[in-house]
Order: sequence, then C-alpha cells, then structure tokens
Amino acid sequence: SKYSKEEIVKKVKELELEFIHLQFTDILGVMKNISITIEQLEKALNNEIMFDGSSIDGFVRIEESDMYLRPDLSTFVVFPWTSPTREARMICDVYKADGTPFGGCPRNTLKKVLKEAKDMGYIMNVGPECEFFMFHTNERGEPSLETHDNAGYFDLAPVDLGGNARKDMTITLKQMGFEIEASHHEVAPGQHEIDFKYEDALTTADNIMTFKMVVRIIAQRHGLHATFMPKPKFGINGSGMHINMSLATIDGKNAFYDENDPMQLSKEAYHYLGGTIKHAKSFAALTNPTINSYKRLVPGYEAPVLIAWSASNRSPLVRIPAKRGNSTRIELRNPDPSANPYLALAAVLKAGLDGIKNEIEPPAPVLSNVYHMNEDEKKEKGIESLPANLYEAISELSKDEVIKEAIGKHIYKKFRDAALYEWNEYSKFVSQWELDRYLRKF
Ligand code: GLN
Ligand code: MG
Ligand code: MG
Ligand code: MG
Repeated sequence: SKYSKEEIVKKVKELELEFIHLQFTDILGVMKNISITIEQLEKALNNEIMFDGSSIDGFVRIEESDMYLRPDLSTFVVFPWTSPTREARMICDVYKADGTPFGGCPRNTLKKVLKEAKDMGYIMNVGPECEFFMFHTNERGEPSLETHDNAGYFDLAPVDLGGNARKDMTITLKQMGFEIEASHHEVAPGQHEIDFKYEDALTTADNIMTFKMVVRIIAQRHGLHATFMPKPKFGINGSGMHINMSLATIDGKNAFYDENDPMQLSKEAYHYLGGTIKHAKSFAALTNPTINSYKRLVPGYEAPVLIAWSASNRSPLVRIPAKRGNSTRIELRNPDPSANPYLALAAVLKAGLDGIKNEIEPPAPVLSNVYHMNEDEKKEKGIESLPANLYEAISELSKDEVIKEAIGKHIYKKFRDAALYEWNEYSKFVSQWELDRYLRKF
C-alpha cells in the first residue's frame, strides 16, 4: 500500500480532518458510504467497522448479515470540495464475520480475476473513456433534458455553463491525484468526456467510481445534473465508456506488442481478442447492465452493434488504436457508464484470459463501416450481433460458464434476478411509441 496505518493517522491529524467516508460498491454499481468521525479511525484501520449487510441491495439475508469493512489504505484521499469541514475517504473490501472475503463484494470479485491473471504472468492495465451528459435543473433541483447548448436563453450568455463545470471537474480530479489526459465536449449537445490515465484494473475501477461521484457533485454545484445514463435522448449519440485494455508482463513489458507481426500485435493480443469476441454476447450483461443500455447499441451513433473488430473503423465492437510499442492496446467499445466497473472489468478480463488460455483465434478484421451490413452479408461472414436487449444478454450470460465463474455464484444469482425483475417491469409498460404506432392503426 501507498500508506501505512501510522501514516494515515498522522495525515488525518495534520490535516485536521473531521470525517472519514468508508466507501464500497454494491452489486448494481451504486456507491455505498459509511461515514465515521476521527474518533473511530483506529477501529476502521483495524478492520473493525461493522455494518448490516441485509440493508444493502443484493447482499445477504438477515441471518448472516454482519459484514466488516477493510479499508484499502492506498485509496485514502481528501475531498477537495467539502470546506469548511474537512473530509477524506477510503475504499473498502467487504468481509464476512468469519474473516473471509464476502462473495457479494464486486471489488473482491475483480481482485480474484486479477490474481488469476497474475498467476498467468500478467498485470491488466485499463484506460477508460467516460462520457456523460449535463442537463439543466429546475427550481426544485430536478433534472430536465435541456442542455446548456440548446436552452435558448443560455445561448446568448457569455459563459459556457457545461464547459465551466467540466473545467472544475478536471481541477478537482487533479487535486485528488488523477492524471487527466483529455477533456472535451462530445458529439451530442450537452455531452462531455473526460479521460484519465490508464492504471492497473483495480485502481481504474476505483477511479471510475470516484470519477462518477466527483462529476455528479461538481455538476450540482454548477446548477446542472450530470447523468451516466447510456442513452438519455432519442436521435442523438448516447454515452459510452470505452475500455482500453492491455496486459503487461511482470517485468513491465506490453504483452500485446510484437514488432515482427504484420499488424505488430502479439499472439497474446490476437488470442485475447479472440476471447473477447467469443464472450462478448455474455459479458454484455455486465458491461451494458440496464434496459436503456441497449437503446445506445443501435446503428448510426458511434456505438457498436456487431461483434467484429477493425484496426481503425469505429463502428465494430473492438478497435485497435494505431499506437504501438508500450501503448499497444485493444479498445472495447460497447461498455457504457451505467456498468459496475468492478464487475465489467472482471468479466472482460476473464474473456480475454480465456482466449489466451485456449488460444482462441479471432475472426478476420472487418475493413469498413459495418452499420449497413445486411443479414445475408453478416451470415456469410459469420458475424453476430450484440444482444438486442437486457433479456437476451441475461440469457447469454446464463449459458456462459466462463463469465459466470468470473463474477462468482452469489453475484451471478443476485445480478440475474435484479435484471430479470427490471425486464419484467419494463415489459409491462406501454410507451408513447406504441401508442403513436398502433392506436389508430388497429
Ligand atoms: N458516444 C459514442 C458511444 O456511444 C462514442 C463516441 C466517440 O467517442 N467517438 O460509444
Ligand atoms: Mg474518446
Ligand atoms: Mg468519446
Ligand atoms: Mg474511444
């Protein structure tokens, strides 16, 4: 760890902190928070902070609900926005009363897959590209679908509300130790992207959770609502969370680079890609876990539909960015920011590792925009589509033992049941689209 217990105690005293937030993530990707005062710090550092697991969605029944938080000391960071009170947080793993890791803790789950990678000689590095929208709020603070770029009266204002909020987010993230590589307005009105530097997969999953928290808080301070909903508006781009992945060998070399290959990709890279393509249909449930996720995965909005790869074209599932050498990587384009980052990374990493273990060859790359490929062409080339909806995705997941193993039995069951419940609720709903289509016709 970056810090020892003693160093944390010293820092907390020096900085005169008043509250420490112990954070963890539930199965559905929602950040949970138990706040303690500094009088309880010692107890927290000794892993003695207990909570009732039965009050957390998808955790456990009442009978076995005593859970313990083990803070990861290297995740200690001070919140820059809380003045005049001074607060910090630590991200925790969830343990059972008997001292073993809890199988319903997504962070434990990702760690298990990372250990498997390590035993094979690899460290997984991930760089995410998180997109999000910012919308205006009304007098009561409720979000609208109006953006700073099309809300008439704001057009004339000399300040770009969204741009200012984004600048503030970048500054805050930097103060918290993030290295920001790019920050820009995205294609759609009100849509933004902030990219931070790649790290090992666990750090990146933690960073994604922190990032979402910061973006929401700072947007709110600018009178805006930030949303990571994948497709908030019909007819314009949705928000993706592209995942750039590479494996490093234990001695720090990029395992995907091979200067002697025509595409300068190693055997591992091709096999990892093969595994990714093979398991894409089933890990979609984890990388695209909401009903709304599948409204984004349609032709024409830079989001993938077909399970194919290309060296450059942005329409298929996987793109291999041009950079080589230490920057050689695979860009997976279907994930969206509603995903639980721990579970999504556990699933995609497992798919790639399965490709390496079983030497799965990827199909030939596609060379053009695949949005307009018709059913006959797809069949001829053996190209399949991503699941069309959450129900299909869950059905695919239920058939894939490799991905199920990645997330473990406990999480699989809770996750599946939650998704099916969601699907059933959605299926009952009669939408405006149907009324427009059928009310007069039949
Ligand atoms: N917003 C697009 C998506 O849904 C991506 C756009 C881009 O970054 N080129 O994935
Ligand atoms: Mg980008
Ligand atoms: Mg983008
Ligand atoms: Mg990208």
